[in-house]
Amino acid sequence: MTGEDTFTVDPWQVAEFGLDVTAMARAESVFALSNGHVGLRANLDEGEPHGLPGTYLNGVFELRPLPYGEGGYGYPESSQSVINVTNGKIIRLLVDDEPFDLRYGELRSHRRSLDFRDGLLRREAEWTSPAGRTVKVNSTRLVSLTQRAVAAVEYQVEAVDGPVRIVLQSELVANEQLPGGAGGDPRAAAVLEAPLIAEAHHALNSKAVLVHRTRFSGIRVAAGMDHIIEGPEGFESTVESHEDQGRVSVTTVLRPGERLKVVKFIAYGWSATRSLPAVRDQVEAALTAARYTGWDGLVAEQSTYLKDFWDSSDIEIEGDVELQQAVRFAIFHVLQAGARSEERAIPAKGLTGPGYDGHSFWDTETFVLPVLTYCLPGAVNQALRWRHTTLPLARERAGQLGLAGAVFPWRTIRGEECSGYWPAGTAAFHIGADIASAVVRYVRATGDVAFEKEYGLELLVETARMWRSLGHHDAEGQFRIEGVTGPDEYSAVADNNVFTNLMAQSNLRNAAEAATRHQPEAAALGVDTEEMAAWRDAAGAMFIPYDEKLGVHPQADGFTDHQFWDFEGTPPEKYPLLLHFPYFDLYRKQVVKQADLVLAMQLRGDAFTDEQKARNFAYYERLTVRDSSLSACTQAVIAAEVGQLDLAYDYTAEAAMMDLHDLGGNTRDGLHMASLAGACIALVAGFGGLRDHNGTLAFRPRLPSGLRRLTFSMQIRKCLLEVRITHSGTTYTLRRGEALPLTHEGEDLVVRAGIPATRPMVKPPAQERCGQPPGREPARRQPHAGVAGGGKVGSTPDHLAAE
Ligand code: BGC
Repeated sequence: MTGEDTFTVDPWQVAEFGLDVTAMARAESVFALSNGHVGLRANLDEGEPHGLPGTYLNGVFELRPLPYGEGGYGYPESSQSVINVTNGKIIRLLVDDEPFDLRYGELRSHRRSLDFRDGLLRREAEWTSPAGRTVKVNSTRLVSLTQRAVAAVEYQVEAVDGPVRIVLQSELVANEQLPGGAGGDPRAAAVLEAPLIAEAHHALNSKAVLVHRTRFSGIRVAAGMDHIIEGPEGFESTVESHEDQGRVSVTTVLRPGERLKVVKFIAYGWSATRSLPAVRDQVEAALTAARYTGWDGLVAEQSTYLKDFWDSSDIEIEGDVELQQAVRFAIFHVLQAGARSEERAIPAKGLTGPGYDGHSFWDTETFVLPVLTYCLPGAVNQALRWRHTTLPLARERAGQLGLAGAVFPWRTIRGEECSGYWPAGTAAFHIGADIASAVVRYVRATGDVAFEKEYGLELLVETARMWRSLGHHDAEGQFRIEGVTGPDEYSAVADNNVFTNLMAQSNLRNAAEAATRHQPEAAALGVDTEEMAAWRDAAGAMFIPYDEKLGVHPQADGFTDHQFWDFEGTPPEKYPLLLHFPYFDLYRKQVVKQADLVLAMQLRGDAFTDEQKARNFAYYERLTVRDSSLSACTQAVIAAEVGQLDLAYDYTAEAAMMDLHDLGGNTRDGLHMASLAGACIALVAGFGGLRDHNGTLAFRPRLPSGLRRLTFSMQIRKCLLEVRITHSGTTYTLRRGEALPLTHEGEDLVVRAGIPATRPMVKPPAQERCGQPPGREPARRQPHAGVAGGGKVGSTPDHLAAE
């Protein structure tokens, strides 16, 4: 089943009517709330039924051994897995003597909605118990964007058709039982049983706090809750705590129309270094602040935060309301993943699920940060500072691998390499250049020189050192980088991957430029003119393979000579290929999991001619199976650039619908942050034509026939630029700031305050649509004009499965 009919179409919210108990995990990811620090899956208040219970704290993980049948030098010995920490969401309800459990009795109505403007997850249920008593339950939940340690729930129960005895049990539950594993899918998380060891607990009045420690990683986690209770006169409440449980119970008898209301404040604190009293007190303090702010205060803070955010970050689409919804959903979740991650990683799933063990990959720097750079630059600063904190580990890893500088991990939570499969882990050295590229983009977009001096420079220098030692000059003087894995994980350990070499080239150049700008700081890092010259030489001599015979760039040396994959003979159920074919066979054939050369054409568009872009795009379209959710957005960008606008529209919709329609069939494990961010990139860099190769924003706007208008805003230095694109032309307006230079279709423009600049649309010549491997074509997008409350829209092929 696809997710098409699960959620209603509405430009500002996602709503679900009814409850499909068999597909709960997917909705738990879609409705997940997070601020990048604390993440709550949308498990029902009463705890059960559930798909996958989940409460995640950024950076809280457990170590687990990585056993190898045949070990090897430099293999990581252990991995890090995100853990489900103490669950503070639970509010159990007893109606007369029966538990409010939606699997029993009659669920008369159930509705959940997540509004992107106020960030609240609302739930309304009307339920008749097996004994025939009806109650209404309303709950509203938030994870505060302004008080990062805090979440809160307002829970109300009302008697409908007769007096009922009510017992509410608001709980903290540690080491809750989790459903079984992921059936052999390597992309899902290791289920860790009972990862928390109790250290302390106490309860008083309406408050309880539990403190635990992870067994092997030694992280101390405190969880606390406090309550404000309102109900008919005479209700009673008690509090208790045990090692793995805190509980506040409230009881009363409600007559029809009467309500019992509980506001629950939840707070978390964690640390690998601080003492038990320090972590416990931090949680107590967060609860005190939350209680002082009050429920209404937290709601008001959330709305104000989001109003400001949307005012400068919205992407408006006219002509396709479903895409509008999906894009706002995407922006909202990217915001949730990054807003308060604060010197911790942004995982591939954010804090919405345990997929990929909670690891962060290049997804962060290549997809998520480019979006946040222009709407929430402070979050980018923080995310890159996290990378900076891991430099000692990355230097150590480089030393272990016999390389200079720093080698960042392919996947990690704290900074150590957690990939047990080196051909697609260690060998994916491009992560270093991806980080460098994010640094450069951030510094150019913000002018944050202090960041560049203190953090950015060192990241650039250490990654440049790595490239200089990884590659070598051949007899002709060309600089070659051999034995690496590019973005496409269906090729590994290849020579001169074009993406890697071009990204390394910018990395080397940008390091030399930054070191020139900040000479004392560079000297303190041991950089001298000779080293800078070596970087420049390597960049200048970078070898970029080209297949003269075919007139295309091979993804890496020799790629275009490989045998083609047997696409015709591969039935739909054999995708994603990685679950059905051995890597040795994938690696030696022409088949592409995800945009690689095509991504090089986006991020290093300056290194290709227009003609090369068109030819390369057509060539790689025929080979790309999109078994990764990181692909469609990039294909959208280049499709738009080469004039394949309807194809670009199809890919944009695919990237945007990845989770709302569960296209990969694994939204249950968490949302695909790179694809969600990628949907924004597809619109802004695809149809907006934005490129930021050299510090000046360059636009080449295009619109597919399905869209009437696209408007987006970008923060750049002290300016807020609005770009409004219609089929007749593009208007650039400065909403903040005095003047901003940019280019439109290659023409230099300066947009000034109060003087919008409009330029007519340049339509690319109509082209024949590129072909894809049979069965892997994107769904043709039909614009969805919107019907009130209707969710059955679009056309999503069931067979399309991506990671
Ligand atoms: C992709 C990688 C990506 C990872 C996490 C893999 O399937 O091939 O590029 O980093 O998923 O999203």
